[in-house]
Amino acid sequence: MSQLKDSQNPSGPVVIGKLKVTVDRNICIGASTCVAIASKTFELDTEAKAVILNSAGQDPEEIVLNAAKVCPVAAITIENEKGEKVYPK
Ligand code: SF4
Repeated sequence: MSQLKDSQNPSGPVVIGKLKVTVDRNICIGASTCVAIASKTFELDTEAKAVILNSAGQDPEEIVLNAAKVCPVAAITIENEKGEKVYPK
């Protein structure tokens, strides 16, 4: 597996640029849509849950946001630097 952004919190919360990204592992069904959209940011771990990669900063913020939007179960939460929810609203 690729290097994680935060090995203590593989699915976040982690700060990527101006965004704080969290995957709810209880909700994630391993559909992998986020990985397809933002492959530098997300990867599935051995439990088929999305984790956040150290290379996350290489995907533009819009792409990360899009990945959250296409998650079929809305498992990805994104907050801005003020702690306001960007997605889901
Ligand atoms: S798209 Fe959603 S359900 Fe699928 S792997 Fe990513 S976080 Fe999990």
